[in-house]
Amino acid sequence: MGLKSEFKNIKGTRDILPEEAIRWKKVEDVIRKKMESYNFQEVRFPAFEATDLFRKSTGESTDIVKKEMFTFEDMGGRSLTLKPEGTPSVVRMYLQHGLFNRGALQKFYYIERMFRQERPQKGRYREFRQFGAEVIGSVSAETDAELVKSALDVFKELNIKGIELNINSIGCPRCRKDFVKELKSFLKGKLNGLCEDCNRRYAENPMRILDCKIDRTKLKDAPVPSDFLCDECREHFEDFKKRLDFLKIKFNIDSRLVRGLDYYTKTVFEFVNTSLGSQNELGGGGRYDELIKFMGGEDTPASGYAVGIDRMMLLLPGKDEKISVDVYLVTFDVESDLAGFEILNELRERGFSCDKDPMRRSVKAQFREADRQNAKWVIIIGENEIKRGVVQLKNMNKGKQKEIPMEIDKIVKELKC
Ligand code: AMP
Repeated sequence: MGLKSEFKNIKGTRDILPEEAIRWKKVEDVIRKKMESYNFQEVRFPAFEATDLFRKSTGESTDIVKKEMFTFEDMGGRSLTLKPEGTPSVVRMYLQHGLFNRGALQKFYYIERMFRQERPQKGRYREFRQFGAEVIGSVSAETDAELVKSALDVFKELNIKGIELNINSIGCPRCRKDFVKELKSFLKGKLNGLCEDCNRRYAENPMRILDCKIDRTKLKDAPVPSDFLCDECREHFEDFKKRLDFLKIKFNIDSRLVRGLDYYTKTVFEFVNTSLGSQNELGGGGRYDELIKFMGGEDTPASGYAVGIDRMMLLLPGKDEKISVDVYLVTFDVESDLAGFEILNELRERGFSCDKDPMRRSVKAQFREADRQNAKWVIIIGENEIKRGVVQLKNMNKGKQKEIPMEIDKIVKELKC
């Protein structure tokens, strides 16, 4: 007997079972705590949005929009897309709700599910989770460095080691023009030898050719954006590096790092961990000074990043923890079952996890269940205990049993010992 195969979960989605969920909860708690220590405010946004939001802001030429979106029509014929990334939704939210009226600088974070139709493999799923942070309203490189630091803080708190930070500047649309011109003239005559994606990128967004994993070596002499930075962009990049130095954050300058999204300007960065194998990118981000204006807002600088939590979980030290309950109740008859039930409810109100057998099986079966649940304590009540107004409290780790009065405060005191 087993699940009929037609009901199995869809390729690229994952179930998180109780033992793993405990680890997820801890990780999410750390993310929230760290993000809030930087005064990022949590936002949550819908699973799906108008397709145009991503098509136009993530960018027509990106792999996400070209190949990976889960797009469908609703009953009214409107094209909708399951969110593949967070930044467009955060910016939409910021503009739609007039959050700019709350002050010049807004700092947000999110923990959200994302959906991309990629070929599933270890560390790459079709439904996955990201945490991300976005700062809207700051032009300063200090903000970019602060964003980097906030992600590194999360890795550090979770004891995730071996993270490398790669950084680059891809300039602004002004200085990028000269770079793209130079890149196109370098690529002319070489296109036949490059992959299909590079040929497409040549027409749509040539800078992204530098990002190609297949043709990297063939492009080693290609011009890079950092050689063409205008004064403002160069100063910004220098300032970013100084800020990282000041924060004692080590980094590599990767002059080919351009990131996969269309809206980036100036700073780009990524966190990698080589032990993750081919899917070694843990997260990344950058500045997107043009996006808010593009989406209809005032000219407003912004910067942000996203980190894949599923990938982070693969690097998390330690094993899944055992599921356990604080207190399991074992009773002998109807009367003791009712008395015990009252105690359980009071203990639950005081924050202890408690359980009992709802089917009132034999005492032996109840003890077996207490073991299976890894109960830290067992409260035993029988006819005799009721008569004498006591309970037997068994410490399951030490194997010791103690009789104490059937009074909630005394029981709690004992459980806290
Ligand atoms: P991106 O939004 O593409 O910059 O991705 C940021 C991070 O999200 C990546 O570094 C990964 O850790 C994670 N990520 C992206 N795509 C996937 C995926 N298909 N499955 C799991 N994690 C992903």
